[in-house]
Amino acid sequence: MSSTARRLLPVLRQLHDIEYLDAVAQGVLNPPASTGMPFWSINPYVGCAFGCAYCYARYAHRYAMERHTDGAPDTSVPAWLAFERRILVKRSAPALLRRALERAQRDPAAAAAPLLRGAPLLIGSATDPYQPAERHFRITRGLLEVLASYSRLNLVIITKSPLVTRDIDLLARLTVRARVTVQLSLITIDRELARRIEPRAPTPEARLRAMRRLREAGIDVGVNCMPVLPGITDAPQALDALVAAVADTGVTHVAACALRLQPAARTRYLPVVREHFPALAPRYEATYRDSVYVGERYRAGLSAYMTALCARYGLATRRRSPSGHTLDDTPALDPSPVTQQLTLALA
Ligand code: SF4
Repeated sequence: MSSTARRLLPVLRQLHDIEYLDAVAQGVLNPPASTGMPFWSINPYVGCAFGCAYCYARYAHRYAMERHTDGAPDTSVPAWLAFERRILVKRSAPALLRRALERAQRDPAAAAAPLLRGAPLLIGSATDPYQPAERHFRITRGLLEVLASYSRLNLVIITKSPLVTRDIDLLARLTVRARVTVQLSLITIDRELARRIEPRAPTPEARLRAMRRLREAGIDVGVNCMPVLPGITDAPQALDALVAAVADTGVTHVAACALRLQPAARTRYLPVVREHFPALAPRYEATYRDSVYVGERYRAGLSAYMTALCARYGLATRRRSPSGHTLDDTPALDPSPVTQQLTLALA
């Protein structure tokens, strides 16, 4: 990192090839109005060491770095890699959350007051809240400690990490007083395939074990099968094996959607396709040349296929309310329609 950026962003810790940088957060809660999403969100870290090739959050890292360094450049690693190797840590996040909720409790007109009335709050909308940094910094645990003082919350945590089971004590406490769902992301149960696409993320087996442990503790668990990668993870028998495996752990629902290839993800994902799946590369280039979406036929077919598949295993395709009604406003589910022909149905 350039000396200017380093001076502006103190290094809290260096572990192997990753630097953890101190980010002074002004606020920690992102309201729906600022993101355009139908939920509130918190991201304890900016950047993610799991480094999934398809990750769409890379663009936000560059903006956050520039904001925190007054535009001072970091020339030590390419921008796409900085997302995985320069992790901003919001150490003040629990204190900021506590302050916002205390204010909301005193004043029903305060900005965060909807959260105390059950407005959905998502932890990990952009980066994984249980990535390796959490083992040391415990920011996500600090957030849960704050949230555990409140009732009527509507909380969703999205992660790929079995580290979430460290906080089973808090999640179980929260479950008694609030609505809580842990949404574990899993796109394949093929360990070797996962390693090529999500090089530093926990293995599928570790995630399946985490699902089971959470369910055994009485915590609601869903699975995000997102993104489904056309031609790579969408073979019907592979999706069937995945849904069978997660159903066996006791999860309640599975949400799926096809890859959306945002510009920031293209620079990382397409080279991985060229390296590991060269026969698919031209079709990916053609399919995603003018749009971040795969074709409508594919998306509709995938949606129909996953709905039928989940039904066969007794799983919902959406997080459900305690009364059994589908929650259309839930952040845990991607409402995108999905696909017709599976396997290799690009374009
Ligand atoms: S775990 Fe999530 S946030 Fe982290 S790199 Fe993978 S997709 Fe991105």
